[in-house]
Amino acid sequence: MSDSSTELLACHQEVHRLNRLVEVSLVINSTLELRPLLSVIMNYAAEITEAESASVLLYDQQTQQLHFVASTTYSTVVDELLNIQVPLEGSIAGNILRENKAIVLDDVTQDPRHYRQADAQSGFDTRSLLGVPMRHKNQPIGVLESVNKKEGAWTQEDRHNMMILAAQSAVAITNAQLLDQLQRAYDELDQLDKLKNDFIAIASHELRTPLSVILGYATFLKEDAQGDVSDHVTAVLNSALRMRNLIEDMTNLRYLKIGEAELSLEHIPLVAVFQAAQNEVQNLAEAKGHTLFVTMPDVSLVVVVDRIKFGMALTNLLNNAVKFTPSGGEIVLSFERKPHSVWIRVSDTGIGIPQDQLDRVFEEFYQVEDHMTRRHGGMGLGLSIAKAIIETHGGSIWAESDGLNRGSTFYVNLPLAQ
Ligand code: ADP
Repeated sequence: MSDSSTELLACHQEVHRLNRLVEVSLVINSTLELRPLLSVIMNYAAEITEAESASVLLYDQQTQQLHFVASTTYSTVVDELLNIQVPLEGSIAGNILRENKAIVLDDVTQDPRHYRQADAQSGFDTRSLLGVPMRHKNQPIGVLESVNKKEGAWTQEDRHNMMILAAQSAVAITNAQLLDQLQRAYDELDQLDKLKNDFIAIASHELRTPLSVILGYATFLKEDAQGDVSDHVTAVLNSALRMRNLIEDMTNLRYLKIGEAELSLEHIPLVAVFQAAQNEVQNLAEAKGHTLFVTMPDVSLVVVVDRIKFGMALTNLLNNAVKFTPSGGEIVLSFERKPHSVWIRVSDTGIGIPQDQLDRVFEEFYQVEDHMTRRHGGMGLGLSIAKAIIETHGGSIWAESDGLNRGSTFYVNLPLAQ
């Protein structure tokens, strides 16, 4: 072959190699799952270096050891390799990682650092090895190794290609590991959420029976009781009723959350909903010295709601307004007609809500004040129940506040009857 045709051939091979590198780079950067990603990396490492096999060893920050996480050797060997820990001291891979330098060995058996235990455990026979470090942002990620060059010795080009591959792999592996951690955190949260829901379900169910007994006997006793005894029985009865409301809140929320709550929808004028809500909270508001203003809509403004459930959502908002406003405040229930919906507004002159918690108050059990130091009763469920009810009606709810002691306004956007 003439000089020029040899050069042409070399040139072709180089172009092919670069094309393949671009291809692999695209695949590596678009693979977000760790296992498939490692498999692509190893296959390519073995391919470009014309090796029998390739392995990835990842560095574990906690144990400060390297461990084989994948290998392209036969599947039985892969399983063996997955359990093998490789110490940083006294191993070739450890040396590569610590020194941050490639190691090229045409005869591994001559090298005292060769970690024979890996071969012994996996039954694989390592003869020659080309290993490169993987680092990302100055942090050690692991080592990429090609094992047993099929023909001849490792070349300068093999080393160069492995270095490029290792640099790209380090970034992709870091991303995949982060994603993996995130996924695990989400799974744990899901698990916790399930435990919490189960607990609520069991607790509310188990409390219901003894509570009905208390309520039954207290009602019975109240009929004959007189004087102080009657007062005491009334106190027991009132507390038991409050407890029953709390349990009902927990049960309601659960049904709403799992979408089992059925709505019995009816077309009703909004004014009827407003009147019912006003009747419900008027006494409570007056007892705290508040003035309750209600702007009553015209009867022509008709909404499609479940009277009881929607009423409960609105009452929750009004009760909060009463509860979180110091005596002598003003509570306003009003509305604003929009083209396809109506905005219902509940505002107060109370303690307000910090800007960064306006969304969080709708989370289950969330309360702005620490529950150990808070002065107000409640479990932090009222708003999540209101939100769930309103969303089941196809509406939405949000809060606004100018900050501490500057009052709060809750808005409900409810679609209008067609
Ligand atoms: P609860 O009233 O039982 O604590 P909610 O879910 O009804 O539970 O409300 C959650 C939290 O949102 C309350 O604990 C309170 O911190 C805050 N919040 C709700 N409504 C108001 C309001 N009108 N003004 C100020 N803070 C409020």
